Amino acid sequence: MPKFFLVIQWILFWRALGSGACTVDTQSLHQLLSSDSIFGNSSTAPRWSDYGAPQPGAVIHPATEKDVQLTVRWAVKNEVPFFVQNGGNGWATTFTLGCDGIAIDLDLLRDVAFSDDRKLVTVGGGALISNVTAAGSRNGALVATGTCDCVGMQGAVLGGGIGYLTGEYGLGVDNVVSMNVVLADGSAEIVTWKSSPDLFWALRGAGPNFGIVTSAVFKSHPIGSSNLGTAWTGALVYTPAQLDSVLRVISNLTLTPPMSLSMTWALGDTGQPSIIVSVFYHGTEDAGRAAFASILGIGPVADGTGIVPYNMWNAGSASACAKGGRKPTWGVGMSRLDPASWHAVYDVWAELVGHAGFEHSSVLLNVNPMDTARELPVFSSSFPFRHTVSHFASITALYTDPTLDAMALSYGQKARELWQSADGLVHHSTYINNALGDEDLTTVYGISLLRLRALKKRYDPQCQFGQWFPLPCENVP
Ligand SMILES: Cc1cc2nc3c(=O)[nH]c(=O)nc-3n(C[C@H](O)[C@H](O)[C@H](O)COP(=O)(O)OP(=O)(O)OC[C@H]3O[C@@H](n4cnc5c(N)ncnc54)[C@H](O)[C@@H]3O)c2cc1C
Repeated sequence: MPKFFLVIQWILFWRALGSGACTVDTQSLHQLLSSDSIFGNSSTAPRWSDYGAPQPGAVIHPATEKDVQLTVRWAVKNEVPFFVQNGGNGWATTFTLGCDGIAIDLDLLRDVAFSDDRKLVTVGGGALISNVTAAGSRNGALVATGTCDCVGMQGAVLGGGIGYLTGEYGLGVDNVVSMNVVLADGSAEIVTWKSSPDLFWALRGAGPNFGIVTSAVFKSHPIGSSNLGTAWTGALVYTPAQLDSVLRVISNLTLTPPMSLSMTWALGDTGQPSIIVSVFYHGTEDAGRAAFASILGIGPVADGTGIVPYNMWNAGSASACAKGGRKPTWGVGMSRLDPASWHAVYDVWAELVGHAGFEHSSVLLNVNPMDTARELPVFSSSFPFRHTVSHFASITALYTDPTLDAMALSYGQKARELWQSADGLVHHSTYINNALGDEDLTTVYGISLLRLRALKKRYDPQCQFGQWFPLPCENVP
């Protein structure tokens, strides 16, 4: 063949790769799975952030646990790398899956079923938080979930699980009773504290390294006279001129179990920065206003609080759920809020949103009372920071143009350094679900790292589950 045609073929090959034409031949898998399973592509499994996102050549939507097992066995046998998807919100840059791999999207496994006494709930491996709260509302029971409807229930809990009810019921991992898991060899196990203490411990904090949770049983909390199905919650808006007071008040505020607080910095519709403090109190309005009196005393320019039913608690964060765009996010755990470093981060954020293309970038702080979580010993699960971290900060650079990546990185790293310089901790500690992916493993796994490394070699020696803050396996020193 003349050299000219070889060159053209080479160019077409790379164009085809670039246009996403690279796929995985799943014909032989098709014949194995139940007829309700669906074979799709990346458009059937959209992600919250396109920055560093997995680029699967095919997406499988298994309809049953058996289908998940068959898919894992098929992938291992054919040496096809795979990645598991629940809500699609994970933003870790550790995802290396390319078009020679598949995504196993669990969105057909979304059942949520309560026990007759409403004290237990079985949640499918692909259920979203919205599925859980909607079913909870219908059944008259509360479940400790995250605060955004689009997030995967298991996706959040397998890394920790923090939300409005953390103060009263502990972390998501503290509410797990059992997990149905497909392991690296394709076997399925029901994992409980009794049946397999090591694996049960590892799954609750480092779950995506060990298996695919097809469903899990959680504690649930019946709504009754002593447990309201409503909360006083909503947004209080402040101006940049009030930032100093807001930071000072939050740094001095001690949250009691029914409380939760978040602060967001974002540009409003007019292009002016807004400081939005979202308050949450699981109780009456009077009790909520009393608990947050110091914040209210600053004098918000808008007060959007009210009594809200359980299935609407997450409504205020709906806009954060939009899929797509580039959203690298740097998270930092803290034991307290240090106003000086937050002022410095404000300057970094204000400069970032001043650049064309970055206007929708934001900063978020979540503060939760950790009293109930701290009733359990640190080794009760592999989530390592229950006794040290109470403040969870993150900065998200939001843009669409990949040529802006380097600029985004420089601002994100700067903010992270400033926060970490005053995090109040002996070791930097980032909640794994908030981490970017460039942190060392100690920063995300803390004191659990040593035991997790040993268990990884036992349960996944060939690193089949190697996409999410991967722990070293037998074949990787
Ligand atoms: C808008 C937004 C709001 C958030 N709010 C909260 C919050 O309130 N509280 C909180 O704790 N966190 C919160 N997070 C962080 C969130 O917990 C993590 O991003 C989490 O990893 C997302 O889970 P997912 O299922 O949506 O994403 P995915 O990307 O689908 O999953 C995340 C990781 O978990 C693995 N995984 C998911 N499901 C399974 C399964 N069934 N079995 C095995 N592995 C699985 C995936 O392979 C992936 O590695 C939020 C994130 C975003 C983007």
